[in-house]
Amino acid sequence: MKSRIVAKALALTGTRGLVASLWRPDGVIILNYHRIGDGGDSPFDRELWSASAEAFDEQVRFLARHCDVISPADLPDALRSRRGRYVAITFDDGYRDNYEIAYPILRRHGVPGTFFVATGFIDAPRIPWWDEIAHLVRASTRPQLDPGSWFDAPLELGAGDRSGAIKPLLKLYKKLPSAESARLLAHVREASGVAEVPGFDRYWMNWDMLREMRDHGMTIGGHTVSHPVLSRLSADEQCDELTTCAMRLRDELGTRMDFFAYPVGARDAFDANTRTCLADLGVRHAFSYYGGFATRDSDPYDMPRVAIETHIGRDLFRAMVQLPHVFCRRPYT
Ligand SMILES: [Zn+2]
Repeated sequence: MKSRIVAKALALTGTRGLVASLWRPDGVIILNYHRIGDGGDSPFDRELWSASAEAFDEQVRFLARHCDVISPADLPDALRSRRGRYVAITFDDGYRDNYEIAYPILRRHGVPGTFFVATGFIDAPRIPWWDEIAHLVRASTRPQLDPGSWFDAPLELGAGDRSGAIKPLLKLYKKLPSAESARLLAHVREASGVAEVPGFDRYWMNWDMLREMRDHGMTIGGHTVSHPVLSRLSADEQCDELTTCAMRLRDELGTRMDFFAYPVGARDAFDANTRTCLADLGVRHAFSYYGGFATRDSDPYDMPRVAIETHIGRDLFRAMVQLPHVFCRRPYT
């Protein structure tokens, strides 16, 4: 909230550009998006929408005009450079709106984007765990959810968007070891009383779309097969996820998995085993998702990214891009 007020003040006084020109960041701002469009009425996880089509178009126009928008392959040069204002635009998961809405906007403005896809959802489209939890909670006709052994009290459903029940469930899911998280999901299925799982074919991109994007300058990177929180898996399970993802990218796109984004992306979502396997696969950069901007000192396997979310208005977005040392700091480092 404080950032928004400072960003607004900089915009109102017309000083942001001046301050930015005097105080250049020495690094690369890596923006992270998930879905583009209007998620307001979605039965799925509404937190995944990063910007409306109009807001994204406006953001990309600003970036194209004021920054050097780069691909991850350009990172080493950009990080070494002391000139320029470098930004990378990345997307996680592989939702179809990336192809239908974001990709045409990127092309129109002539800038590259990077798309990290969970190959299991491209190969066999199905609802991912976060969207399924949101769907089960929203579709339930029950007044509350049985807390099972996970919560002290029932989760009240009531009216509204039910985010009060969805958020704690997603938070808990991300923390649990994988067998436990599967048990939690089974419990929510049962407790919600919702029998039907919606088809998800039309929500994921397919390989043809990804090939087309690759052919037009977009980078396609890895994001595992089934989008688990890697650090909750054994070393072998992690390596299976990473190796199979790399193999599917190679088979379908003919490209190496040079770049990878950690599912969930929090500092504790990956560990030493993840790094070892990524190094064995020859991955050049792996991207996290807990704030910050990349500098030449950044760990190549913990490249910081900042989340773009719908509540970030125009002034804050521009301030983040032009003054990342103020507006894109890591929350705890
Ligand atoms: Zn993801």
